[in-house]
Amino acid sequence: MSATLLSPLTVGNVELKNRMAVAAMVTLYCDHDGMPTEQYIAYHEERAKGGFGLIITEDYAVDPVGRGFWCAGLWKDEQIAPHRELTERVHAAGAKIFAQIYHAGRQTVSALIGTQPVSASAVQCPVMGEVPRALSVDEITTIVGQFGDTARRSMEAGFDGVEIHGGHGYLVAQFMSPYSNKRTDLYGGSLENRIRFPLEIIADIRAKCGPDFAVTFRISADEYVIGGRGIDETVAMSRRLEAAGIDLIHVSAGTYESAWAIVPPMYIRQGWNTDFAAAVKNVVSIPVQTAGRIKDAEVAEGIIASGQADLVSLARASLADPDFPRKVAEGRVEEIRECIGCNQGCITLLFGGEPIRCLVNPSVGYESTDTITKAETARTVLVIGGGPAGLEAARAARMQGHDVTLHERQSQLGGNFRLGAVPPAKGELASYIAWLGAELGRLGVEVKLDSAVTAETVAAAAPDVVVFAAGAKHARPPIPGIDGTNVVEACDVLAGKTVTGARVVVAGAGEIGAETALYLATTGRRVTIVDRLPGVALGEGMARRYFLLKDLDEYKVEQIMEVSILSFADDGVEIQVDGATRTLPCDTVVLAMGMASNNALADELRGLADVRLVGDAGEVSDALRASRDGFTCGLSI
Ligand code: SF4
Repeated sequence: MSATLLSPLTVGNVELKNRMAVAAMVTLYCDHDGMPTEQYIAYHEERAKGGFGLIITEDYAVDPVGRGFWCAGLWKDEQIAPHRELTERVHAAGAKIFAQIYHAGRQTVSALIGTQPVSASAVQCPVMGEVPRALSVDEITTIVGQFGDTARRSMEAGFDGVEIHGGHGYLVAQFMSPYSNKRTDLYGGSLENRIRFPLEIIADIRAKCGPDFAVTFRISADEYVIGGRGIDETVAMSRRLEAAGIDLIHVSAGTYESAWAIVPPMYIRQGWNTDFAAAVKNVVSIPVQTAGRIKDAEVAEGIIASGQADLVSLARASLADPDFPRKVAEGRVEEIRECIGCNQGCITLLFGGEPIRCLVNPSVGYESTDTITKAETARTVLVIGGGPAGLEAARAARMQGHDVTLHERQSQLGGNFRLGAVPPAKGELASYIAWLGAELGRLGVEVKLDSAVTAETVAAAAPDVVVFAAGAKHARPPIPGIDGTNVVEACDVLAGKTVTGARVVVAGAGEIGAETALYLATTGRRVTIVDRLPGVALGEGMARRYFLLKDLDEYKVEQIMEVSILSFADDGVEIQVDGATRTLPCDTVVLAMGMASNNALADELRGLADVRLVGDAGEVSDALRASRDGFTCGLSI
C-alpha cells in the first residue's frame, strides 16, 4: 500500500507523525541578536498545533557575519536557553522541530554584517552587488566548526535535528557550484572538491552531536543560472551526501539570481520541482523531501502516494493555513485556505526588510495577539463592500459572536480584487475570495449580493456598527480629453463591461496597468503602456515582476516610460517624451493612473451608526493591507 500524507515517517531516529513539513522561511520575528521573541515562538507553535509533523525553522546563522537577514541565531551558547521555550512549546503541540543552519556567504551585504561578505571565490553576487572575499583554507575550517557548534547548540536547545542549508545560493551552495566556485585548491574544480566543504560540515556535526541527532540537507536541484549546477550533479552529490551520513535530502531549486525558483510565484505550477526530487529518490535510500509551491492537499497527497518523495514541504501553504494538516486529517480539505502565490506578504516584505505577513491569512505574525473573544453582548454589524477588507471584517466580527450582514453591490464577491484574477496566470486570486465566501457561509454571516446600500438602508437596519469597505475607484487626473468616449477604465475592461479597439494605449504602468495591458495583448490587441515612471510594475516583487516583464515582452507590449501625458483625443494620446511632443495613435485609452478611495457615502452614515472605514475606502493601499485592516476592524468590534 502506498504511503499517504497522514502516514508516519522516520528521519534518522526521529519519528514524524505525518508527511507534512513546514519548510524554512525567514520571518524577521527574532531580535537583532538572533534571539527568539514571543512573536517568533507563537508563530511556530500555531503551526505545530495545526498538525504539521515537522517544522523546519528559518535560517540559523552559524556566525553573525553569516547572516543575510536579521534572522535567528545559535552562534553562541547564550542563545541556547531562550530557544528551549520554542522547542518545548512546539513539542507540547505535537510536532518535531529542526533548525535550519546556514551561512549566507556572498548573498548578504556589508551594511548588514559590518564587513565584506565572504565566499568560495571573489565572484560578485549579481543580486546583492558586492564582491566577496575568497575564504582561506583556515577560514573554511573555522566555518566548518561553526556549523558543528551550531548543530550542537541546536541539540542542547531541544531541536530534534538540523537542516544544513546547502541550496539557494548560500555559502555551502557557493562552494558546490562552478558558477560561484572558481577555486583551484582542494575545495574547487572537480565535483569531489566542490562537495568537500559540506562533507566536512556533516562530519563535524556528527562528531559533535553523535549518530542519533537528525541531520538533513537542503539542495538546489537546478540553480537555473548559466554555468550553475543542474540535476545530474545534484544526483551525484546526493549519493555522496547520503554516504556522509545525512538522514534526509530536501530537494529545492534556484539561487538569488533565479529567485523565482526559490519562491515561485503564481506563474509556476504546483509541485513543479517534484520530478527533481524523484530523480534524487531514485539514487538514495534515505527519505527525500520535495519543495516547490505545493499548496493543495490533493497535489501533496499525489506526490506521496506516487512515491516521488517521502515528505512534502508546505511553506507558504502553512502561512496561508496553519491548520492545513488538521483539516486533512479531519476530512475538511475543502476548508483549507490556499496560498495564492502572490508573494506580497512573505518574500516581498522580507526583502523590503519587514517581518513577513500573508495576504490571505491576516493573522500571520499576530498569532500571540489576535485573540478571538466571544462578545458578551452581540452587536449588529452591517458591512458595506465584499472585497478582502469587508469580507475579513465580517469574518472576524462574526467569530467574535456579532450578528453580521454584508452587502455587496455587485453580483459577485471580491470587489476590485476579483478583477485581479482576470489577467493571465492570476486566476488563483479568486480562490481567496471563494474561501472567504464559503467561510462566511460556515460562520453564518448573511451575505446580500446586488445590494447597493444607501443612507436609507442603513437607517432602516439601524446597526450598531457600519464597516465601510466600499473600496476604491479609478483616479481621474485633470487631463484634457479624459471624459472622451474612447477613454475607459482598466477595471471595466477586466470586468468585461467594455470592449476596447484593436490599438490600445494603457495610461499607467503600475500593477493594474501592466496586467491589463498584458491581458489585452493576449487577446490580440496592439498595446502600448505609457507612464511618467521609469519602469513597469515597479512595486511588484522580484519574482512576479520577472514573469510579468517576460510576458509583456513576449506579447510585444510597447513600453514608453518617463513621459508626460498631455491630452487624450479620439484618435490617440498626445505625450511629451524627451522634450518632444508626439501622438500615439490608438482606438482606446485604458486608464490605470492610480485609485482613489470610494467613501462619499460614509460621511452621510456617521449620524446613523458607529462607522468604521477599512481597506481602500479608508486609504488606498494593497490587498495585503486591506485584508489585515478589515480583520483587525472586525476583531475590534
Ligand atoms: Fe502565499 Fe501570498 Fe500569503 Fe505569501 S502572502 S503565503 S504568496 S498568499
